[in-house]
Amino acid sequence: MKSAEDDIDAALLCSACFVDEGLRIDASKHGREEQGDCPNCKSSAGRKLTKNDIKSLAWRFFVSGTTVLGNYGGAPAIQFNEDHYGKSDIYPSPWLKGDIRLIEEAAKIGFFHYGPRLWMVGEVEPLKDLQDASKRLRVIARVLTEYPERILAKDSAFYRIRVGPQQPDDPGEYDSPPTQLAGKGRLDSIGFPVLYGSQDIDICVHECRATAEDEIFVATLKPERDLRLLDLTHVLKEEVTEFESLDMAIHMLFLARSHSYEISRTIALSARDAGFDGVIYPSFFSLIRTGGRPFETAYGLSLRQFHPQAEEYGRAFTIPNFALFGRPLENRSVRVHCINRLVLTQIGYVGHFGPVIY
Ligand SMILES: [Zn+2]
Repeated sequence: MKSAEDDIDAALLCSACFVDEGLRIDASKHGREEQGDCPNCKSSAGRKLTKNDIKSLAWRFFVSGTTVLGNYGGAPAIQFNEDHYGKSDIYPSPWLKGDIRLIEEAAKIGFFHYGPRLWMVGEVEPLKDLQDASKRLRVIARVLTEYPERILAKDSAFYRIRVGPQQPDDPGEYDSPPTQLAGKGRLDSIGFPVLYGSQDIDICVHECRATAEDEIFVATLKPERDLRLLDLTHVLKEEVTEFESLDMAIHMLFLARSHSYEISRTIALSARDAGFDGVIYPSFFSLIRTGGRPFETAYGLSLRQFHPQAEEYGRAFTIPNFALFGRPLENRSVRVHCINRLVLTQIGYVGHFGPVIY
């Protein structure tokens, strides 16, 4: 006869079992509505958790919930697995101790402090070379040859958002900023304006940090000719470890904050000099929008590299943005097809919880 522990559909715990408020809320999102009393706390009010539900709850709360981003990359402070069952070595808040014991017993796992493999926190050779001004151009030369060209076809639509333009109905408002104002963004430099656009309107809203109080307008733009773009969202096929991976270097570069702009701006200038009309680059908000996790690993190996469908995997978690060089509306390589007012009715962040100490 099968015991309840062998039955993968059997509820072992429920959301009402936990003391930690964040864990309780996360558990009720993970759990399922099911008749009957919880085998642990005997409550009928909580949402029930199977062994698999408990593991995925543990991943969200303790692994994702302790992930710390560095200058480049990021890594969780805590991991768990079956090997550490009964050998847990973390030091949680007092109110969380009983909850952890319940999770460990139900899922037969143990939590431990995770020493990340160093590539996860930016120890990636091409990335270090990009940060070194004397080696930067050598890596960028590789970027220009190893990443593919993509065509943004004539007449294909994409969007550009403006917050509070002076003349919302003036097509000129939707070009790149005037040349004298260029040099503040991820890819534009002093004297080198760039038009940022995307085929995902929600991403445009995030990227321009719009809020519900703003007057927001969205222009639908269309190229007047095929535009040649360097596609930096491509997942490179490489025969090297993560420590030597150009793919990981570029991936981390575009998920980094403004300290990285000096590098991405040099890539844009080099792409222009190589004859491209612009670049396609991964949005900083890709991970939030698609629910991806930064630098996801299995046993310390990057899933971006070792996932059986690495290409699809990378693509599923990457939102492509466009950066078109110069002032494409003024230069007539792009036209305004249409302008709309955009009314935000909801701005929401969906999140989960994590522990405060460990
Ligand atoms: Zn319960």
